[in-house]
Amino acid sequence: MKRKRTKAVQLGSVTIGGGAPISVQSMTKTDTRDIESTVKQILSLEEIGCEIIRLAVLDREAAEALGPIRKRIHIPLVADIHFDYRLALTAVANGVDGLRINPGNIGSETGVEKVAHAARAAGVPIRIGVNSGSVEKDLLEKHKKPTARALLESAMRHVGLLEKYGFEDIVLSLKATDVRTTVEAYRMAAAKTEYPLHVGVTEAGPYGSGTVKSAVGIGTLLYLGIGDTIRVSLTGKPHEEVHVGWDILTSLGLRVRGPEIISCPTCGRCQIDVLGIVEKVKADTKNLKEPLKIAIMGCVVNGPGEAREADVGVAGGRGSGVLFSKGEIIRTVPDDQLCDALLEEIHRLTNCDRVQ
Ligand code: SF4
Repeated sequence: MKRKRTKAVQLGSVTIGGGAPISVQSMTKTDTRDIESTVKQILSLEEIGCEIIRLAVLDREAAEALGPIRKRIHIPLVADIHFDYRLALTAVANGVDGLRINPGNIGSETGVEKVAHAARAAGVPIRIGVNSGSVEKDLLEKHKKPTARALLESAMRHVGLLEKYGFEDIVLSLKATDVRTTVEAYRMAAAKTEYPLHVGVTEAGPYGSGTVKSAVGIGTLLYLGIGDTIRVSLTGKPHEEVHVGWDILTSLGLRVRGPEIISCPTCGRCQIDVLGIVEKVKADTKNLKEPLKIAIMGCVVNGPGEAREADVGVAGGRGSGVLFSKGEIIRTVPDDQLCDALLEEIHRLTNCDRVQ
């Protein structure tokens, strides 16, 4: 998969663009002023692979909370600010790694100039994040609705404001709530600019349908080589966003973290409790960070083939199943012991303790 080359932008310890690995990010859902809850949520997100965290900054108290929060976390922190450039200045003074602002909506041009100067002096990049819900009135009138072209025009207008003050440490996003507009907007942006792209489908919805929408939108773009960092937007826990983000990257073979489970849908031929084994393996390997392909297959039709291709796997048979490891048959195990045998082999391969 050939990726579009973009400019590298340094966000704290994470590089966005320039061929760097595609990072997974999320946003806290706590009140940023509640430092304890916010830090706790970020640390738990770090554990499951969140690489960049964004916090909403609604007022001065929230902007000042960023300093103490930043000191206690280990991933780059991005302050998300609307309407008031002074909050962006406070955020930079409090040591944030990045800003998400739309320069056209943070006040006067003098304010934009001050933010651009402060961000450059601190080495803080700015993401311009255009959303279909907040396209400027004149562009909506011109395009009738938030089309892909309207999103692009809006983004480039914000870009122009920063470039006017010599600021080019920019990441762009152009998110719509529907997949086709989102994909089209990013395709046009990728053709027009070298700035790295933060991709996502905005307000994608709750876990099930939102996951599908995000996977189709983000997945299509990544498959086209477009996208340098991703955020899945779900109504739910941010942890789900991170898991889905990683699943999207894994499914395209772009990055892998933790177990990848290949399991069959089961059918009338199924000889073992595939669903039960999958649930146990998922729970047991949830802390695993290293990549491991695990196949759990119900019968001998496709089972041996998939299990042999995986790092470790089982294929069901009548009253028993065959355990595979690194492409070899290890042994035949009675079906009531198959799950335990699989878990033991997983832990032998990964040297990881079983979750009790
Ligand atoms: Fe059915 Fe066997 Fe295929 Fe599973 S592997 S779906 S049990 S045919």
